[in-house]
Amino acid sequence: KPRVFSGVQPTGNLHLGNYLGAVSRWVPLQDQMETIFCVVDLHAITAGFPDRGELQKATREVTAAYIAAGIDPKKSIIFNQSQVREHAELAWIFNCVARIGWMNRMTQFKDKAGKNRENASLGLLAYPSLMAADILAYKATHVPVGDDQKQHLELTRDIAQKFNNDFADRIKDLGVGVPNPEPSPETPEELFFPITEPMIAGPATRIMSLRDGTKKMSKSDPSDLSRINLTDDADSISKKIRKAKTDPEALPGEVDGLKDRPEAENLVGIYAALSGKTKAEVLTEFGGQQFSAFKPALVDLAVEVLAPMTNEMRRLLAEPAEIDAVLKSGAEAASAIAEPVLKDVRKIIGFLDVR
Ligand code: ATP
Ligand code: MG
Repeated sequence: KPRVFSGVQPTGNLHLGNYLGAVSRWVPLQDQMETIFCVVDLHAITAGFPDRGELQKATREVTAAYIAAGIDPKKSIIFNQSQVREHAELAWIFNCVARIGWMNRMTQFKDKAGKNRENASLGLLAYPSLMAADILAYKATHVPVGDDQKQHLELTRDIAQKFNNDFADRIKDLGVGVPNPEPSPETPEELFFPITEPMIAGPATRIMSLRDGTKKMSKSDPSDLSRINLTDDADSISKKIRKAKTDPEALPGEVDGLKDRPEAENLVGIYAALSGKTKAEVLTEFGGQQFSAFKPALVDLAVEVLAPMTNEMRRLLAEPAEIDAVLKSGAEAASAIAEPVLKDVRKIIGFLDVR
């Protein structure tokens, strides 16, 4: 049965990239599959421990943003990761399945660790192993994320595959596997973990920084001008788009003309994603015009799409007890799925069960 898992780190509030690349794409899935959406607070401490209050505030804000964006707690499980112990437990086991070399190759680790890699936390190196645990503790089959998470999802598949292979005999003997849907001579007949399908699609899989068209828009970028936050009011949206880096040329009439113009391509892409049009359609409308004409149209569109969400978030955040109640029942529902999975994992490993 298809099951979706995805998450956002409470390292700050959501920005347009998180919304267009991930959360907005989760909304329609709620009516097609079982959906689990997590606020991944264990991940949020890998790059340094935030202030206690900040972490709690960001956790509620990300939850409010999910709900305001259309994630319905009646249709989806919404919870924060630290409340379900199975994530950390399975991550530890995956730390012993995955190889150090796999982790060392991850570009997100290299980017986030910077030059002084020896001084990065061990948690930052093991980040993808925790992410694999997030997904596989629920045996999730589909993971909708932005393009930057592609490499981590490949690693999740590698971990699932290695676990299924290394323990193939035990999985069979214990009767805890399911028939391999894609049998081949190299893979076991029965699988314990599914081989997860990444869902990286749509016009906005990688929204770039407004200050630098070669860097992705990120919560952790020190410059607030680099991103549009879901909490920004119309004035700051307008200011950030007006100040967004561009080149001096007019907009081209065709998509080919955006080549080697990353900032122009990004703004056209944002307009396309916000309006539900293709880049080609946007260029038919704005080709030949200067950024001085295009930017105000983009501001109007961004405000029109984001303002109702921002207002709904503010309303929700005024009632933190309601947000906490959603997270509490979400954590209970999530535990009910993950607990039996971990029970089987402990059996497969051979931990002596005395309780
Ligand atoms: P941080 O800088 O703390 O890593 P982030 O902005 O990268 O924050 P995450 O919480 O790491 O956000 O990612 C949450 C989701 O948003 C993931 O699915 C990720 O792929 C997606 N995402 C992040 N940035 C972008 C972007 N610029 N464009 C499209 N999707 C993005
Ligand atoms: Mg990130």
